[in-house]
Amino acid sequence: MKSVDEHLAEILATVRPLAPLELELDQALGATLAEEVSSPVPLPPFDNSAMDGYAVRAEDVADVPVTLPVTDDVPAGSVELRAVGPGHTMRIMTGAPLPAGADAVVPVEWTDGGTVSVRISRTVSAGNAIRRAGEDVGAGEVVLKPGTLIGPAQLGIIAGVGRRRVLARPRPRVVVVSTGAELVEPGGQLAPGQIWESNSFTLTAAVREAGGEGFRGESVGDDPGVLLDRLDTHLMRADAIITSGGVSMGAYEPVKEALSPLGTVRFEKVAMQPGMPQGFGVLGEDEVPIFALPGNPVSSFVSFMLFVRPALDKMRGLPAGPPETVTARVTGPLRSPAGRRSFLRGVLAADRTVSPVHGQGSHQLAALASANALIVVPEDETEVPEGASVEVIAL
Ligand code: AMP
Ligand code: MG
Repeated sequence: MKSVDEHLAEILATVRPLAPLELELDQALGATLAEEVSSPVPLPPFDNSAMDGYAVRAEDVADVPVTLPVTDDVPAGSVELRAVGPGHTMRIMTGAPLPAGADAVVPVEWTDGGTVSVRISRTVSAGNAIRRAGEDVGAGEVVLKPGTLIGPAQLGIIAGVGRRRVLARPRPRVVVVSTGAELVEPGGQLAPGQIWESNSFTLTAAVREAGGEGFRGESVGDDPGVLLDRLDTHLMRADAIITSGGVSMGAYEPVKEALSPLGTVRFEKVAMQPGMPQGFGVLGEDEVPIFALPGNPVSSFVSFMLFVRPALDKMRGLPAGPPETVTARVTGPLRSPAGRRSFLRGVLAADRTVSPVHGQGSHQLAALASANALIVVPEDETEVPEGASVEVIAL
């Protein structure tokens, strides 16, 4: 059997970062920057007021209280500015350019708010409440480096330096296809022998949570020909494909039957529980990666976390490796099969204890939904006593 680490290493050696594209700003959230972004101008571009108040010469408010005439209003966006003369003030708003002559702003809270003349009750020193040009960014200065993940604040600074588009690796488009003749769309009626299809919802959501664009393809039954046709269609728009089910040792295993003959997808046993049967390879001229995950709901989810998520990181141009773990103390005994790495479902608490949930079967989706962590038991351990230290993957 192949180890979990070997299987992940093979996947990471195969998948490649997506090619960068010019993305509009409203497409760029979650993309990975592939260029250096710099500012063509200083930011702020001009000296401006940090507060609503009065532009003054600091020397004119050295002795307070003092009453000074207000000669003008300077709202944000003002262009034609007169200078503030000695012994005078102007009412100024946050973000408005500082008029010549003034060297400080007195916040409106320290005044009587007058519009013809203003009584100022506190002194200020030169530079008070002024935001200097270039204080945030100098002209030509780099604000973001390649490899940066674009979140809300990064989008903000890209727009803030005046850019409309940015060169970035897009979020990978991943199509999810469930297989199984027994599956019925949720919302429909169950006939004998049928179950409601759930994996495609889990996996599509997991793709989105991992920074990809998840598309839920229509489920297919157990006919390998139908599956191949469907995959052919999806290949046109997918950066990766995930299938669920149909990869085990039984008969009616459509994914294995359809893809094995192609020679580009391998089906193997990986030394883990749940999720032993795994398929991985590439499809089509563009060598689109395909992850053929086992059908049991817990198995497919665990497989996603261990193998697909790191692959998506790599496709996004981000550092990619096995899921991070934290150390916790287990509140009950654990069992694990010899020679396989177990990923048991547990509830990780703030005090760094982890409690295994009731129901560790790979079909027990409700138990998975009650958990927030996977407890990792190494291949060579078959029993873990209560109170032992374990590694845990937080979900
Ligand atoms: P398979 O890997 O196709 O042999 O499926 C293993 C088990 O998982 C069977 O009990 C299936 O009914 C169940 N299963 C497979 N695919 C799904 C799915 N998309 N949603 C829920 N259960 C599934
Ligand atoms: Mg099946």
